[in-house]
Amino acid sequence: MAASGRDVDLAKWAVLLDFDGTVTERDVGEMLLDTFAAGDWRKFVPMRKAGIISGRECLEREFACLPARKEELLAYATTHARLRPGLQTLADFCEKRGILLEIVSCGLDFYIEGLLNHWGLGRLRWTAAKANFVNGHLAMGYAEGHRICETAGHCKCARLEQLKDRGYMVAYGGDGFTDICPAPKADLLMARGALKEHCEANAMSFISCDDFGEIIRHIERGIAAAGALGSDARHT
Ligand SMILES: [Mg+2]
Ligand SMILES: [Zn+2]
Repeated sequence: MAASGRDVDLAKWAVLLDFDGTVTERDVGEMLLDTFAAGDWRKFVPMRKAGIISGRECLEREFACLPARKEELLAYATTHARLRPGLQTLADFCEKRGILLEIVSCGLDFYIEGLLNHWGLGRLRWTAAKANFVNGHLAMGYAEGHRICETAGHCKCARLEQLKDRGYMVAYGGDGFTDICPAPKADLLMARGALKEHCEANAMSFISCDDFGEIIRHIERGIAAAGALGSDARHT
């Protein structure tokens, strides 16, 4: 376990989830781009894969293809996006067990906030990139905060590391290129899509599942095992 140098509490868990394509069934940012983007927004992906532009720059260029019509974009998202089955159960489980559940996203704040409220999950903590609607354009901004890598617009690793430093065991779930950097830092990894392919290609262990039942069972086993160790890990 990656506990060296840290006072890790084996019974204290946090679950960090990517939003697009993880909390949601499909990538909401991509759905909006496919529907509203001016021009070919996918042309930036090969440039990112070739290392010509960074992940952060790729996302910025893609989202700059969206029109500055926030209400229309949000209405489309709430009509078409679907919550992944089991997320509500996971949220209930975490609440009941005092487990921190938080979304770390490189998507845009307005649709994440709007969709979570729409699904009755407005109480969940989340961080994401900021969509600024100015002069007819959508420009990405970022919340002030600690950044430890430049792989994505919003640094997911910074939050993961912060929780590890505070003694949490961190379960991380994701599906895309912005999840590749934080993935190996997690104690338990749930992967789908491009992240799953990356894990398989690099012999990284992960849970492969399309709902959240498996992650609940793993955390319960982890908590039970910590209890069986007889440590005082439960006093938090
Ligand atoms: Mg994703
Ligand atoms: Zn990183």
